[in-house]
Order: sequence, then structure tokens, then C-alpha cells
Amino acid sequence: MACIYIETFGCQMNEADSQEIIDRASAAGYEVTSDPSAASVVVLNTCTVRDSAERRAYGRMAHLRALKTGDSRVKLIVCGCLAEQDRDRMRLRAPYLDGVFGTSDVARLGEQLAAWRPGFEDFSEASEARALLRLGGEADCIAGAFSHLRAFVTVQRGCSYYCTYCIVPHVRGRFDHRSLADVLTDVRAKVSLGAREITLVGQTVNAYREPARGADFADLLERVAALEGLDRLGFLTSHPKDFTEKLVRTLGALARLNPRFHLPVQSGSNAVLRRMNRKYTIEEYLEKVAAFRSYCPSWALSTDLIVGFPGESEADFEATLELCERVGFAQAFMFVYSPRRGTPAARWEQIPSDVGGERLRRLATVVDRSVRGWHDRKVGTTVRALVKGPSRKDASKLALKTSDNVTVVAPAPICSETALAERPWLDVSVSQAHVWGCSGTVAGGAERYDGPAIPFAVSPLFDIVSLVRS
Ligand code: SF4
Repeated sequence: MACIYIETFGCQMNEADSQEIIDRASAAGYEVTSDPSAASVVVLNTCTVRDSAERRAYGRMAHLRALKTGDSRVKLIVCGCLAEQDRDRMRLRAPYLDGVFGTSDVARLGEQLAAWRPGFEDFSEASEARALLRLGGEADCIAGAFSHLRAFVTVQRGCSYYCTYCIVPHVRGRFDHRSLADVLTDVRAKVSLGAREITLVGQTVNAYREPARGADFADLLERVAALEGLDRLGFLTSHPKDFTEKLVRTLGALARLNPRFHLPVQSGSNAVLRRMNRKYTIEEYLEKVAAFRSYCPSWALSTDLIVGFPGESEADFEATLELCERVGFAQAFMFVYSPRRGTPAARWEQIPSDVGGERLRRLATVVDRSVRGWHDRKVGTTVRALVKGPSRKDASKLALKTSDNVTVVAPAPICSETALAERPWLDVSVSQAHVWGCSGTVAGGAERYDGPAIPFAVSPLFDIVSLVRS
């Protein structure tokens, strides 16, 4: 049997591309597996947004090469942003790869999978050599009993903003917006396959402009949110430059939207924002936050932050700390600046890495307080959250996500995976808050987000009686 395994690094765009690769592979007759040693085709969908992501991808390639050593029929391919950027270098560094596909090559990748498919007819016989391999390491793998519950739909590719630190416009090209009709068709298809939550993704979704009639992102949200069968709708990522009052008015009015707005600010200093080419000032950002909070008072606001950007002084950094204290983000993704080949900022004088590391630690202390505060509000309440799968730290527990993107962990109820996938919205009574999320106990599960929750617990006596009878 032909099986495909895919590992995804990086942002929501790569997640969306991985789902599209899986859709194409399934159409060509592949099964999806979460076990790389069972796969006839192994795909690494790579990221190049930071140096660490690049090193991880090359390390993972070398690691997964063992599968080909164990069984020469296995195909190992690499796609995504690093493949786009490093196409030639990758062929030299990893000559054992069976294919390198850039960010605009997803259709060609699908054709290659279809062409390989007949050669895997007898692949169901597990190769001893493959089975003996021990492939540890991280795997943000797409297969799983609950992976169909969340789906990404791309509304736009590329970005035309050229922030001076960012590689995306160089590897993904300029904005290319999809038609509203295509987006609606994709959402309907994912919902019909069981998706409970759709996330519309793009590098700057709120810059969306329908190519034919010029509908904007607020119009798009209205149309998608009205689709029958959809439970919840989210979107990633927005740019402060394209924030409009119409958009936040729409957010506040659409009940199916997840109450979480991700609005990357990157720095609290106007001087740094100018050098980053971010196209807004902190005063403008704060005005937008105030407008957002007036329309969406109970929503979570999350952001991205970069410290140690070239030229960032201690005063610039303190302005970032002050901004975070003032706004009180519910979640923030924080990074030390990482120079990317081919971007302007990579050619500028760099801040010493120990200074960047120390600033990141100080920033985390401030941000963690507001994040923990957001989680504290949930203690003593019951939250409805969508199941993700077993907790990575303790397989007897389930990890879930609330609609405002808070991780919740709770002991798994006594039921099969199938029963959970059928009632994947769990009501969790939250007993404790942490910086990473919340923990509690499951009170019941619902099929739909706004449906009634039914308890899962089965009496042990009932189980014994059914076993004796069977
Ligand atoms: S807005 Fe800036 S950071 Fe975001 S993808 Fe475009 S260039 Fe990169």
C-alpha cells in the first residue's frame, strides 16, 4: 500500500500547504500515516524564517535519510520555503533527496506523487530494515484521529510588504489573492470532510482583495461565516497597516468567529519599526487596539515580537517592554532577531547574541504575566474546547484548544477515539491556570460547538457486564 508521511515546520501557510499535499496524495491513492517507518513517501515541509528552523530542517533530512538506507524504495522529498530558497544548495548538501519542490510547486509535487503511486503496489509488506529503525525527534505530523477537525484554507499567497527582516516576499513572491468563489468552495469541501474549525490563512489576510470584484477581508469573513455546517472560523495573520474599523466592526458582529485577533506589533519603538519597514507607528497601533477593544471587548489579542533587531538600543527595547505592559497581550510569540540571507537587515550591524538573549528573557517575564492573567480568568469556569490529541507530556491526558487559542489539558475521558472524534467539543471545568494554558476535568462532549454536551464516563460495572456478555 502507498503511504505518505508529512512533517511540517513553520507558519500557518506551511500548515495549509501540507493539507493541500495530503489532499492531492489522497486523490492519487495514498494512505496518510503518522509513522515515518511505514511510509513509502516522506515529505518535509520546511521553513526558513529563522536560522534555527533552517538548521532543524537540514538535521531532520539527515535523520530521515535512514529510512531510505533501510529500504531503497522509500522516497524522501523536501518542499516549502527552505526548498524554494536553497534549491541548488540543497541538492549539493542532500543529494539523496528524491525531490525538492518550492512554494509554488505544490501542484507539481502532486503530479510526482501520482506518477510514483503505481510503484508502491507491494509496499504493504513492512520492511524489516525500516521497522528496525528508531526515528525519534519532533514531528508536527498531519495524520491523526483528530487532524480532520481543523482545516486551513489559503486566501492569499505571498506578501508585498518587504519588512527588512523577512524572507517571505523573497521565497513566496508578492500578494496573489484567491477568488472568493474558490475560497468558499474549499471551505465547503473541508466542512463536508468533518472540519469543525476553519482557519483562513495568508501572510497578511486583512490585505485581501478579491481579484474580480474587489471584496475585502471583512466581506470574505461574512460570506464564509454564513456557510452552513461550519462550527468556528478563525484567521491568521493580520497586519496593523490593513486594520480598518469596518473589519473590527465585522469581527464583533459575527458570532461564529473565534474570539482571537493576532496583530503582530514586532517592536514598541518607532525608530525600530521604521527600520523594519513596518508602515505604522506605535501611536497608530495603540489606536487600532483601542478600536478593536471597543468592538470586541472579550476577545484575546495576541502578537509577535522581535528583540535584538539591528540598531535596537536599550531605550528601544524598554519601549517594547512598556508597550507589552500597557496592552497586556493574551499571547505573544517572541523571538531574537535572526538574520536571513538576501534581506536588507542581514547586511546591517548586528546586536551581540548575548544582548538579544538577555532581552528575550526580560521580555518573557513581562509577557508571561499578562498571558498568565488571561488564563487565570478561566479558573472556576467551564470552557468549550476542540480536541487536538494526546498531551505530549502525558499520553493519559488530552490536549485541547479553546476558541481563543488557549491550550487546555485534562485527563482523557473513558471512550474510544472514534467517540471522541464524533463529539470533539469538550466542556472542561478549569481548575488551574499556568503560563502555558489551563488544566481541568472533562465534563462532557458535544458534536457541534453550540450543541449540548453529553458525559463520556462509562460505569466500570457496565463495562464488565458487556465484556462477560460478549
Ligand atoms: S508583512 Fe512583513 S513580516 Fe509579514 S510576511 Fe510580509 S514582509 Fe514578512
